[in-house]
Amino acid sequence: MRIIDRPALAPLTTLGLGGRALAEIRLESPDDCLRLADVLAGQSDVRILGGGSNLLVHDGDLPFVVLRPLFGAKGPEGGAAEPEILGEEDGPDGPRTLIRAGAGMRVPHLLSWCAARDLAGLEGLVGVPGRLGGAVAMNAGAYGCSTAPLMRSLDVFTPEKGLHTLSPEGWKASYRHFSLVEDSLWYMSVSVVLSLRRAAPGSVRAAVRENFTRKKSGQPVHEHTAGCVFQNPEGISAGKLLDEAGMKGKRRGAMYFSPMHANFLVHDMKCGLPGRSDDALSLIHEAQKAVFEKFGVRLAMEVKEWSSCPC
Ligand SMILES: Cc1cc2nc3c(=O)[nH]c(=O)nc-3n(C[C@H](O)[C@H](O)[C@H](O)COP(=O)(O)OP(=O)(O)OC[C@H]3O[C@@H](n4cnc5c(N)ncnc54)[C@H](O)[C@@H]3O)c2cc1C
Repeated sequence: MRIIDRPALAPLTTLGLGGRALAEIRLESPDDCLRLADVLAGQSDVRILGGGSNLLVHDGDLPFVVLRPLFGAKGPEGGAAEPEILGEEDGPDGPRTLIRAGAGMRVPHLLSWCAARDLAGLEGLVGVPGRLGGAVAMNAGAYGCSTAPLMRSLDVFTPEKGLHTLSPEGWKASYRHFSLVEDSLWYMSVSVVLSLRRAAPGSVRAAVRENFTRKKSGQPVHEHTAGCVFQNPEGISAGKLLDEAGMKGKRRGAMYFSPMHANFLVHDMKCGLPGRSDDALSLIHEAQKAVFEKFGVRLAMEVKEWSSCPC
């Protein structure tokens, strides 16, 4: 466990915005969780940071502590850790392999590990720059895949129960939503068991390549963004609504909606202006108002906003 005082959060997010938290607690081994109650000493506003790729953090002094679960991020030699192969199971679509990976494992690393072993299921997550715990928390997905249906069990830490293991009855998941059934102030995923289909040799790698080509051609994957700002309302593309409401390319300060895909808010780090969360939020509110006025549709945020108000 390592504790960092008053960490700057902007460099820990892909959007590159945000002020300073009270403290950052880096957790590398599940045993670190045993010390958490003492270290947190009653602090109730606790946020869990994965890869920071779905966050809009407010500027200024922020009154919360950030936990950074890095379980399974590094192997014993200091390189990236490998998932553990647990065994096989039969599925309706053929034989499947069960693997366990730490919540701190980077999704791109997990995906290339799976592709090299022809294990299918996660290939829609290509280009998702987060960690596995973040993919679980967001039920991340694309191109017909999402994280929750692949999960067989989840090790979590909660302030009420400590470390424990959940089976699928212990969580609820839907489009970009994941929550525990049990009541808890907050939860932190520690490790996940995933069930992956054994696919034809080379087919997972080919699907990953194809999905990435598709993603690159329609999304600003090389800019500083937090992915899609808004969830797609059922059956409608939020990007299309934003485009038709005139939000494509709209700018305030260093922040603008991408001309490539209007649902991506970009932080222009080269324009010489400081990136400010107020500019991002005012663009977001303007976009919600414009879409509501034109289509009567209320766009819900997909990006998680971390403000000074406890949530
Ligand atoms: C270029 C780009 C492309 C993207 N494409 C997609 C896409 O195709 N599909 C998609 O779904 N998303 C996409 N995203 C959004 C984002 O990458 C995903 O939501 C991702 O799963 C977030 O993971 P993270 O580790 O970065 O989580 P963070 O951004 O760090 O956190 C997101 C939420 O998860 C919680 N969380 C993180 N780790 C844990 C943990 N261990 N335990 C409990 N809670 C936790 C946080 O508290 C927060 O509420 C994209 C983002 C970018 C920048």
